[in-house]
Parts: sequence; structure tokens; C-alpha cells
Amino acid sequence: MLKSYIIRNIIIVLISTMMFALFSSCATSSELFKDSEQGFKLGIHVLMDSKESLDAVKNDIPKLSQSGIDFIITEINYHYEYQSHPELRGYGHITKEEIRNLLETCKEYNIELIPQFQCLGHQSWASETFTLLTVYPEFDETPGQYPNNENIYCRSWCPLHPEINPIIFDLMDELVDAFDAKIFHVGMDEVFLIGSEFCPRCNGKDPAFLFSKAVNDYYNHLVRKRGLEMMMWGDRLIDTASTGYSHWEASNSRTHLAIDSIPKDIIICDWHYAKLDQYPSIPIFLKKGFRILPSSWKDVDAANALLEYSLKHKNQNMLGHLLTTWKKPVAGEFANHPTIKPVSERLGKMK
Ligand SMILES: [Zn+2]
Repeated sequence: MLKSYIIRNIIIVLISTMMFALFSSCATSSELFKDSEQGFKLGIHVLMDSKESLDAVKNDIPKLSQSGIDFIITEINYHYEYQSHPELRGYGHITKEEIRNLLETCKEYNIELIPQFQCLGHQSWASETFTLLTVYPEFDETPGQYPNNENIYCRSWCPLHPEINPIIFDLMDELVDAFDAKIFHVGMDEVFLIGSEFCPRCNGKDPAFLFSKAVNDYYNHLVRKRGLEMMMWGDRLIDTASTGYSHWEASNSRTHLAIDSIPKDIIICDWHYAKLDQYPSIPIFLKKGFRILPSSWKDVDAANALLEYSLKHKNQNMLGHLLTTWKKPVAGEFANHPTIKPVSERLGKMK
């Protein structure tokens, strides 16, 4: 009996070890940030909501490559021809074939293409509510409130609604497949509607708990189950009071307390668009053990200030710099975004 018990346990340990080895090899499948000795990686974020915007990105790839761009984060959200949930396709949805075509060009120029799907917040813009909450209004964190989205910034979905994640994971899986993705960006910036009094599930719950639950849910699917790396915006993980940041680029709703309840191998895109003397979130994230990508927008002086501050804190977890554009790409203009050249030159990445 004892002998068979020992053999059974040895078999269990061997299987566990094999599973762990398999999981580990999947989880580190992206080569992009593997070798920090290769220096800073330079990326650019772009909104991609139609075939026209995809074509504009594709058109400018040779020039982006000359400027040393290593990766492009394409925020696609509902603008994809989803097969699992065709009811959630937004206007101008892009096909898998079109994504594959863009991917081919990116590979030719050794640029990694990273899909982004905006999770939790940013479920509307101005008076337009995006497809998830128009098709499934019961998923809304504030159902029936704020007609025409007046007096709010953006709608959120409810992180505790039991039927949302299976749908979102289907969408994520389709994007991972189409993009042949090794890294996935889940967005999660500027979530202001969280723990609302109008939500029967979240009312009275700690926003820190709700936010960390959402992050962990997406991490469990993308990293633990699918073996990808996960990126997210960092603003909800830092607080206004101790950093002096505005309530846009930091949180005043306690979500920052989630920082100690989420996995440290998430890549944080730490965005700051104003010229400041210091950017305290950079040492905060680094000290916690996160890998970070300080992220700038269109103001050249502000981008330079953020970059110089980043370089002062350079270490193995400082992966590089992310440029954001926040407007629809136009062919011939996208690669001339004003911060690309100065940032690339400062990092010695111009070809
Ligand atoms: Zn809720």
C-alpha cells in the first residue's frame, strides 16, 4: 500500500512539474522585452476603428521602422468582425484577413503588433455608448442612469456581473488569434464609475477590491490560461494625494490600493502628458517590481521631460517608452506624430 502511495505521489509531482514547465514556456513567449540589454523599446499606440485607419497604419510602417518603432499597440475594441459575438461588432469592423495583412507588413519590418481591448471603463464616448452596453444594457455599472451619457465621462461595465467575462474572453480570444498576439493590452484607464450606488452587485463594495478583481480576472484568462503577457494603463493604480498628479492620471477613488493585489508581471503603461518636474509613479511602480513603459502624448517638451526622468531611473524593469497619438491615423501623417523623432533621436533609435 505504502509503495503504491509513494509511486502515485511521485507521478503527481512529475505531472505538476511538466505542467509548470509547459506553462512557463508559454508565459514567456514574447521576445519583445526579453533582453533588456538591447536597450529601450519604442512603441506607439493608435486607435484602429476601420479599414481606413488600418490602411493608414500599414502605409506608414516603413517610416515608423526607420524611426526605430519596435511595437504598435492597436486599440481595436469593438471594431473587429467578431464571429463568436457578431452582435457586438461596432461600425467599420475590421476583418481577420485585413489584420493578417497588417501583421505581415509588421513582421517584414520586425515590428510587434499588440491588440488592445478597452476593459471595464471607456464603454462610451460623449453621447455614444459602445456595443456591449447597448446590446446588453444589464451589464452597465449604472443601468438606466445618465441618459445620453450626460454628466459622466464614460460608462463602465460591472466587474461583478457573472455573464460578462465569458463574453469578453471570447472577444479577447478572437483578437489573440487574429493578431497572433503574444502580448495583450487591456486598457483600464480613467475608470471613474466603479462601485456605483446604482449597481445592485457593487454598491457599497470597495473600489480597490472591484478594480483588483477585474485585473486578476483578465490576467487569469490572458496570462495564466492563454500564456500571453498583459499590459494595462497605470493611472488607477496610483493615487492623487501622495503623487500630486491630477485625477485623470491618478486615482482619488481608492482604486490605487489594488496595486498590491495584482500580479507584478503585468506591464504598466504609465501615462503622463504634462511637463512636470518629476513623475513619482515611475519609482513607485519600479519599487513594487512592475515592468513599466512611461507613456507620452503630443507635447514634445512633456514627452522629453518624461523620457529624461525615465532615463534617470533606468533599470531592467524600465522597458522603454510608449508614444500615444489619440486621433485617427492618417496615411503620411501618422509616422510624423510630433514626438516620434525627438524621442527616437534621444534614444539613438533612428535608422
Ligand atoms: Zn457592478
